[in-house]
Amino acid sequence: MQTQGSMIQLTEEILKERVENIQRELREASEGRYPAPRLIAVTKTHSAEEILPLRAAGVTEIGENRVQELLGKLPDLQGAFDVHLIGRLQRNKVKQIVRHVKMIQSVDSLPLAEEISRRAEEAGRRLPVLVEISPAGEEQKGGVPKEETEAFLRNLAPMPGLRVRGLMAVMPLTEDEAWLDQLFRQTRELFERMRDTAIDGIEMEELSMGMSGDYRIAARHGATMVRIGSAIFGPRMYV
Ligand SMILES: *Cc1c(COP(=O)(O)O)cnc(C)c1O
Repeated sequence: MQTQGSMIQLTEEILKERVENIQRELREASEGRYPAPRLIAVTKTHSAEEILPLRAAGVTEIGENRVQELLGKLPDLQGAFDVHLIGRLQRNKVKQIVRHVKMIQSVDSLPLAEEISRRAEEAGRRLPVLVEISPAGEEQKGGVPKEETEAFLRNLAPMPGLRVRGLMAVMPLTEDEAWLDQLFRQTRELFERMRDTAIDGIEMEELSMGMSGDYRIAARHGATMVRIGSAIFGPRMYV
């Protein structure tokens, strides 16, 4: 198989080695405090051909952030992976994906939550979702402000098509490791506070945080899932 440009074809072996290295680093970073987080391989911008070899590396869950792109690849992925939707989701696209995903990780508004609940019910599902919170209060990036998280969860609790499983966070792009460390710690604290609040109808089992640049810090602070793309596939050619 020839790929475009001068990109080196990623062999199964290289992918396997990268995934194994990441898994080992996750174990080391979380050791003694938390179980190692699960790896969600973020496969956006990559073709089914590039994604399928991940199976041999033991990857069972992938993350995609665009509905059209995901729908285009699904037939070729042959049900080989559980799919998490991790990106901004427009309400009018919910209907198209509600049968195809294992989880939607980016729920941050009531109208979106209501639409997911309604469409999931139609499909006979209670769809697992995560509430995306805003760890640094960057408004343009979406996410529920931390101080509104409890009220937001209470609003989602009675929605019949939703199974709220926990929280998700996207950290700011920064080189400032001390700041990141603080944001991950605060996000873990919020997660534990919400878990201890024990809202009826809300599960607090999953904390999805950490990407290619910061997954070690995320593991150290008790992420249960990390979402990793470029550390597996190499830098993206476009975003
Ligand atoms: C692209 C993306 C990731 C993975 O980013 P990498 O830096 O390539 O690991 C994780 N989470 C979300 C929401 C993304 O959009």
